[in-house]
Amino acid sequence: RGLAIGIDIGGTKVAAGVVDPDGTIVASARRETPGQDPRAVERVIADLVRELGSGRRIRSVGIGAAGWMDLDNGTVLFSPHLAWRNEPLRANLEKALRRRVTVLNDADAAAWAEWRFGAGRGEPRLVLITLGTGIGGAMIMGGVLERGRHGVAGEFGHQIIVPNGHRCECGNRGCWEQYASGNALGREARELASANSPVAQTLLREVNGNIDAITGAVVTRLALRGDPVCRELIDDVGQWLGLGLANLGAALDPGTFVIGGGLGAAGQLLIDPARRTFERNLTGRGFRPAAMITSAALGPDAGLVGAADLSRIRYRPLLGRA
Ligand code: BGC
Ligand code: ZN
Repeated sequence: RGLAIGIDIGGTKVAAGVVDPDGTIVASARRETPGQDPRAVERVIADLVRELGSGRRIRSVGIGAAGWMDLDNGTVLFSPHLAWRNEPLRANLEKALRRRVTVLNDADAAAWAEWRFGAGRGEPRLVLITLGTGIGGAMIMGGVLERGRHGVAGEFGHQIIVPNGHRCECGNRGCWEQYASGNALGREARELASANSPVAQTLLREVNGNIDAITGAVVTRLALRGDPVCRELIDDVGQWLGLGLANLGAALDPGTFVIGGGLGAAGQLLIDPARRTFERNLTGRGFRPAAMITSAALGPDAGLVGAADLSRIRYRPLLGRA
């Protein structure tokens, strides 16, 4: 049976795995995303493909990358969190690996995986949101991965939710991902800790007083252990999440929102406030059906599983599916 390699390149981590046709990961590896050098990222990808491929027959290779793809999936047009600007990623990788490679947006890949194997199974109108360094967005409408006219649909993280708000890596101010991502959670927690507030004591103890070491992952871990202040911080982020979902609900009317990415690990601590704020702000509430909001089933592996699966079926962007 055909094995495929999937690689998910995010703002902080590169996750890779060998995936079978049922979406099961049979081997995996992880690296930090190397700084600001596109060549270094390519080298990491090539190394991972070689490492995971050794001793196995690999049918195809798929890459989900945190950036905006052209319609042909060959070029990363732009990435707010990585150094890619008009980067011919597919051509470079195919040259390095001497094989065909499928390149996609990371959130598109994750949406595909959740739709095929996870929380979105059987849902004809699915919107996926990943919360990590930024916010990834993707939609599967009628079984089609909807990419828009130019390939860059679903950049929900950059909807402007606070005019003149926090500056975003994309260049604008007030983008949703500045309020509802893992990074946003980390920033809020560091701010609280810097304010020298006694309520931040547990947080500070967790990082031995090193405020810079406070990340969204640290806050999520403490919140899951029951720390009330970290729960509050996640609750705030959940409310921002719900506000953006209300906008998306008005625009797209999906049946289900699937919430994944690193911060998705917070589960109900995040989903409950999101649902409340979503229901409170959805236009026409009380007179219309509203989408379900559920946690992703594949967790942080969705991106690599989806990239592998789409590479296997030779995903064609214009048709939306094989
Ligand atoms: C990027 C998206 C990406 C998302 C998650 C956003 O900042 O614009 O392309 O999918 O982060 O990595
Ligand atoms: Zn932005």
